[in-house]
Amino acid sequence: MAASLPDAHTRWRCGGCGNLTRFDVTRTRRTTEFWHFDLAGEHRVEETTTDEEDVSTVTCRWCGRSDAVELVSRAEADASTP
Ligand SMILES: [Zn+2]
Repeated sequence: MAASLPDAHTRWRCGGCGNLTRFDVTRTRRTTEFWHFDLAGEHRVEETTTDEEDVSTVTCRWCGRSDAVELVSRAEADASTP
C-alpha cells in the first residue's frame, strides 16, 4: 500500500509485475472552490484550492495488486528498464 504521492524524484512501481505507468488512485480531497455565477444562475468553478488530500489506495492496473505498489527513485526505475 502506497500512501504517499510521487514527487519530482520518485515514482510508483508495482513490485508484483514491474508496472511503472498505470495505476488506479483512490483519494479523498477537501477543496475550496471559487464559484462564479452568471446572471442566469449558472456557475463556473474558476479556482480550486486543495486544503487536504489523503491517498487511500494505489492499485496496479496490470495485476490488480494494491499491496505491492512502492515508491522508488526515478533514476532507479530508469536503470531497471532496458
Ligand atoms: Zn502490478
